Amino acid sequence: MAYVITQNCCKDASCVPVCPVDCIRPAGDDSDSPITEMLYIDPDSCIDCGACMDACPVGAIYYEDELPDSQLRFRSINAEYFARHPLQSPTYPPVVKHGRIEPGALRVAIVGAGPAACYAADALIDIDGVEVSVFERLPTPFGLVRAGVAPDHQRTKSVVSAFERAMSSKRLAAYFNVDVGTDVDHDELLRYHHAVIYAVGMTHSKELGVPGEQLPGSYAASDVVAWYNGHPDHIDRRIDLTGHRAVIIGNGNVALDVARVLLAGTAHLESTDITDDALNSLRDSTVEEVVIVGRRGIRHAAFSVGEFLALGSLQGVDVVIEGDDDLQPAPDDDVETVFKLQIAREYTERPPTPGHKRVVFRFQARPVEILGPDRVSAVRLARTAAGAARPGDDEGEILPTSLVLRSIGYRGTAVGGLPFSADTGIVPNEAGRVVDDQGHVRTGIYVTGWIKRGPRGVIGTNRGCAEETVAAVLADFDDGLLERPIGGRADLDAALADRGVTHVDWSGWRAIDAAERRAGDARSRPRIKLLDIASMLAAVTPANSTPGPQA
Ligand code: NAP
Repeated sequence: MAYVITQNCCKDASCVPVCPVDCIRPAGDDSDSPITEMLYIDPDSCIDCGACMDACPVGAIYYEDELPDSQLRFRSINAEYFARHPLQSPTYPPVVKHGRIEPGALRVAIVGAGPAACYAADALIDIDGVEVSVFERLPTPFGLVRAGVAPDHQRTKSVVSAFERAMSSKRLAAYFNVDVGTDVDHDELLRYHHAVIYAVGMTHSKELGVPGEQLPGSYAASDVVAWYNGHPDHIDRRIDLTGHRAVIIGNGNVALDVARVLLAGTAHLESTDITDDALNSLRDSTVEEVVIVGRRGIRHAAFSVGEFLALGSLQGVDVVIEGDDDLQPAPDDDVETVFKLQIAREYTERPPTPGHKRVVFRFQARPVEILGPDRVSAVRLARTAAGAARPGDDEGEILPTSLVLRSIGYRGTAVGGLPFSADTGIVPNEAGRVVDDQGHVRTGIYVTGWIKRGPRGVIGTNRGCAEETVAAVLADFDDGLLERPIGGRADLDAALADRGVTHVDWSGWRAIDAAERRAGDARSRPRIKLLDIASMLAAVTPANSTPGPQA
């Protein structure tokens, strides 16, 4: 018997170092293994100790005999991974190690409080003596874990428990509800900290650049995700779900999340932290078909195996594969491509069920125009290479729809005072150290997460990314590059208070969290989110916040 990693794997690799027989892959800088979206346990080497299950922050690991029906398939998926990539010599992910640092000698500001920031804070707080300040525009932490992870993935959201130790440390000060760039600027952060790590992520969706993109009824999928997750910037959004078909452009995991939420019915969402507004809209929704358009074939589909497989277990929903007939694996296909092809073949073999809703994967097609005139009425698709012939190909196929969701990834925006590459959308850096246009390192300034490496990877990918950046901070500290006199925290607090900035600290967030959980308890839900900043601040007792004179 063995343990099995399943769909919810966040890939933060907490399980890897605790495994006494080192049978979880891919791990660390294991260059023999492919880059994958999840981790796998070798069933032949697993000794059933359960250490990995205890360490997994998102409950994605099950004992083989206890796998829920919907996750049974992962038993063979874990085994097949090792059939193709037999276990090699042990490798462990890099873990930042450093001796005690004299209190006051290294204080680091982290801008952002999403998973990338939290992993960086965790690695820094691990070093005795290091002080950390975390700045976040909203009164609430956790970024895309709170506002990006789909509400039916509550287990994934539980990864935040892994950050509790660092965030509640006496050496960490949370400055939530403080906008870097407005309430405090980059130079000021450097006056109070030896180093600044930007973990600001990417908040803007890429644009398609096709006519009609701005018509009512056409949205960024990420805005819809933010809406159903109750992000304060999106609570006034109204998404019209009264049409029969929705079309999603792009086939990454965001596209699959949105398709699932649109089609799966509200019964399973009632017990989540989705907003009431979104829940009511979904209850009244008449959407019966979601078409997910990918410009390349299934071999290049951006979704991960687990999410693709999960769609096939949705009650009352058929999965249809169109536009790519080449579903047989080739010798040089990587292991995850083989899984995707296998699952796609199974979907094509399932007969359609009358009355079922449908999620249609349309491969090798791209939108050339979104048609109006006053609001979205259709999208014109053109075939890309090797797509199956369809009527009307010459002018492109017209697919009627009232809802188009652009899910083609995120783009970074320039951060005040930092170099920025418009081509790649990231802050140029060397292993986390920010570099300017001439390739010179900007001493004391670092990046981690999407703004460092681009919008790729699952939550746990940020762990190794943050460890690399923190290792760079510590190396620069050891080399004496960060040594200079800085102001104390009390001076920073006074400066913020003087200009009327109300900052929320960790206990303030805990008060918001408790208020949301209490409201959730009454309705058997994990939480009912507070949606606007005023309500969040009202939940913070005076003892938990530091109000400025105008607050
Ligand atoms: P993504 O994975 O980068 O997928 C973007 C999709 O858009 C790709 O199919 C891409 O096709 C397509 N695309 C890009 N530009 C296009 C254009 N101009 N026209 C047509 N199609 C275009 O992005 P994402 O879905 O936003 O996800 C971002 C990251 O978050 C990913 O790493 C994802 O795994 C992660 N995430 C994970 C989960 C989860 O684990 N459940 C959930 C949400 C997000 P090409 O491949 O041809 O460029």
